[in-house]
Amino acid sequence: MKRPIYMDHQTTTPIDRDVLEVMMPYLTDQFGDPASRSHAWGWAAEEAVDRARDQVATLIGAQPEEIFFTSGATESDNLAIKGIARAYNGQGRHIVTQQTEHRAILDSCRTLEQEGFTITYLPVDRDGLVDPEAVRQALTKQTILISIMHANNEVGTIQPLAEIGAIVKARGILFHSDAVQTVGKIACNVDDLQLDLLSISAHKMYGPKGVGALYVRKTRPRRIKITPLLDGGGHERGLRSGTLNVPGIVGLGKACEIGARVWPEEGERLTRLRERFVTGIRQGLDHTYLNGHPTQRLPNNVNLSFAGVDGEALIMGMTEVACSSGSACTSTTLEPSYVLKAMGLDDALVHAAVRFGLGRWTTQDDVDATVQTVMSRVKRLREMSPDYAMLARGIVSRPGR
Ligand SMILES: *Cc1c(COP(=O)(O)O)cnc(C)c1O
Repeated sequence: MKRPIYMDHQTTTPIDRDVLEVMMPYLTDQFGDPASRSHAWGWAAEEAVDRARDQVATLIGAQPEEIFFTSGATESDNLAIKGIARAYNGQGRHIVTQQTEHRAILDSCRTLEQEGFTITYLPVDRDGLVDPEAVRQALTKQTILISIMHANNEVGTIQPLAEIGAIVKARGILFHSDAVQTVGKIACNVDDLQLDLLSISAHKMYGPKGVGALYVRKTRPRRIKITPLLDGGGHERGLRSGTLNVPGIVGLGKACEIGARVWPEEGERLTRLRERFVTGIRQGLDHTYLNGHPTQRLPNNVNLSFAGVDGEALIMGMTEVACSSGSACTSTTLEPSYVLKAMGLDDALVHAAVRFGLGRWTTQDDVDATVQTVMSRVKRLREMSPDYAMLARGIVSRPGR
């Protein structure tokens, strides 16, 4: 049996062979702990971690000492949100975020609510954009942190971080972004975006699973304080205890080095493929709507609602294409997407949504084959759909583009 075409790159990516290759020695002969200062194994591991720290920093325009390695972006998000809140809780107890953030942000905020913090969850518009002016208006004397993701993992919408950064900076409030979907994919520079903290995950950018990083600006103008989540040996300058995942960190570093080199061209190529995908589907199917911003979106994200079709049924029925309905976490519980709901889609279109995530090795043939498969499946499902029959006869009309 032929393997399905992988169209789920917002969930996870395959590891780049060049990344795996540089990791291998650190899984075998070079197994040292970088904290061992007394022998060659330790020195080699320390050197490798230093190199990776440089590679990560270079990609986002940071200094190496501003990079802290973690177990992934879930941990980076938790550390940023809870760590800042707990360290600054004497200064204020209010945080501003928005409704379509990843669960790692939203659930960290829920925990803080139980600790007495107030959280503002800003709404988004139909395209998934948050209004920088709404951010400004949400700020109070109590606000200590703003967290707005760079690009959304379900619908690909890219938030106006530079505008928000300018507002935040003028007020001297800390600014965090979950940039998991953009680092190594589009321009993401911590100075251009005026960010103080930024979360990264290796497995979303062709690196290994279980490793990530948190960027923390060194001075603003004072040192930023963060209360650690873990107590222990004081690794990563006291911010994140635990023996470093050396092979993973080496892999993250290499993934960043490759990302820095290839993203401009890769982004253009994927944008062309994305447009080909959407145009192809649109030419063959009516009542099909693109979710997320039409242009201000990730090069590799296509999220479509096929009116009259149950998205889950479509996904499960397509053995030739691997894709998902949105966030991996919510699709296991079969809950409708809170992201699409926050964007104001009506329930029928939320349930009709399917996300396709293109990647580094997606070819034009993959896109064309996926378009053909999706069209034939959707047509077949619509033949049995009373909702679609009504739509087709013009009895009900749906909003959308
Ligand atoms: C995948 C993802 C995360 C979680 O990253 P892990 O490294 O898997 O913990 C956080 N935020 C966004 C936007 C993501 O897409």
